[in-house]
Amino acid sequence: MYDIIIIGAGPAGLTSAIYAKEANKNVLVLEKMGEGGQLNNIFNVTNYPGFLGIDGFELAQNMKNQAVKLGAEFKTEEVLNVNFSSNIKKVMTKNNTYESKYVIIATGAKARHLGLDSEEYFYGKGLSYCATCDGNFFKGKTVAVVGGGNSSIDDCLYLSNVAKKIYLIHRRDTFTATQGALEKVYALGEGDGKIEILKNSEVVGLIGENKLSEIEILNNKTNATSKISVDGLFVAIGRVPETEIFKDKLKLSDGGFIETNKYMETSEKGVYAVGDVRNTVLRQIITACSDGALAISCIIKNNI
Ligand code: NAP
Repeated sequence: MYDIIIIGAGPAGLTSAIYAKEANKNVLVLEKMGEGGQLNNIFNVTNYPGFLGIDGFELAQNMKNQAVKLGAEFKTEEVLNVNFSSNIKKVMTKNNTYESKYVIIATGAKARHLGLDSEEYFYGKGLSYCATCDGNFFKGKTVAVVGGGNSSIDDCLYLSNVAKKIYLIHRRDTFTATQGALEKVYALGEGDGKIEILKNSEVVGLIGENKLSEIEILNNKTNATSKISVDGLFVAIGRVPETEIFKDKLKLSDGGFIETNKYMETSEKGVYAVGDVRNTVLRQIITACSDGALAISCIIKNNI
């Protein structure tokens, strides 16, 4: 039996592992795909203290190496079910059931979809939710990015090194992205017109035979629709929490995020939630790490 099982190996899970090992606890980290989580999709992290700029993948690797060096055990297995009803917690994967005194949920969030019927069909045929993963397939091509937050702006900046032309499509006339990031996009738009911004615009249709070739846009101020030719569409409209397996077991918010108190404790004793999966006001790398450190310190204070 483990002292602590951590589900998810993004920054919140990895920090939890580091702090737990520093406190000499017996720790298992379960991750379905490999460490890093959403961090792997950020090509340049500029707001994590101590680094003027660092590739997200590299930052994740550093965190993992730190946890491994301290002795944390990692397994690449998807958690399919959990039983939190007794003092000994059970965490089930396809072939194994693991037990622990405490569980930390750090499953993060995944890309929000546009909600179009044809989205599944075009996924991988021109439609992507990760510019840093798929951007290189669009060298010298025309692409569009949907969204108005920092992710969409990051994607535009990343793609500007690869694509010939980028449309940034946002459903409002104001952005939630930070001003500094936006200014870089404006500069590229004003320079050689590489980035063209379409405000008050919604992608309402995906068109193409075998692969995406056009998108249909609705101007939500004028109600006019138009089509633009694109080779790729990158959707960067926020994230939804990975909480499917917890939905009947823990208290969730309306948006499906896990409710915690200020100590990261969930509605079930001995179960904690950290990082983007929990109902919180700020989802950043630093807050994910902070959540992980806080959860472990509370567990340690419980004297396991
Ligand atoms: P976000 O800030 O929540 O922005 C989501 C954007 O998508 C908003 O513009 C939203 O528009 C739009 N949107 C939501 N649902 C939509 C839909 N169905 N159709 C069209 N547009 C839709 O998400 P994010 O950009 O992924 O950022 C998440 C967090 O990570 C933020 O705190 C961000 O600052 C942080 N982040 C930081 C960095 C960095 O520091 N380098 C990089 C990436 C992300 P409305 O405003 O109309 O809702």
